Amino acid sequence: MSNCLFCEIMKGNIPSRKVYEDDKVYAFLDISQTTPGHTLVIPKVHVRNIFEMGSDVAADLFSRVPMIAKAIKDSNENIKGANIVINNEEIAYQTVFHSHIHIIPRYSDEDDFSMTFKDNSKEYSDEVLDELQEQIASKVEKGAK
Ligand code: AMP
Ligand code: ZN
Repeated sequence: MSNCLFCEIMKGNIPSRKVYEDDKVYAFLDISQTTPGHTLVIPKVHVRNIFEMGSDVAADLFSRVPMIAKAIKDSNENIKGANIVINNEEIAYQTVFHSHIHIIPRYSDEDDFSMTFKDNSKEYSDEVLDELQEQIASKVEKGAK
């Protein structure tokens, strides 16, 4: 897609630090390097984000992630783990609208990545949770292929 930063990177029209490429995916260092080794994995087809991704593109994209994550971990003995993050739409911090998976190696509690999951479970009655479950489950059944 023209005007897409990551399509241009993939085609080699904009420089990047590639760590892996095959016929389906391209992986390169994130320019921001939240922690050293922060890598983006993108599908070669232009897809905006997870909401526009079909199962074939998803299978190609996600199947490469363990291999690349292991390579990152093996590259530095100080890497203790990794967060794997996908931001979808502006509300969820997506800034580049070609889908991408962040692999963010983790070195310590004090490195430059953090994420908080608030525990709001006490605020939801069983009735509300039943309704949430049903609302989502009914959509999964309709959309599943
Ligand atoms: P997101 O906020 O999930 O859309 O992530 C977009 C990511 O792309 C950010 O972490 C940016 O640092 C990264 N980024 C932006 N421009 C470039 C570039 N030219 N090369 C590599 N990474 C980039
Ligand atoms: Zn693109």
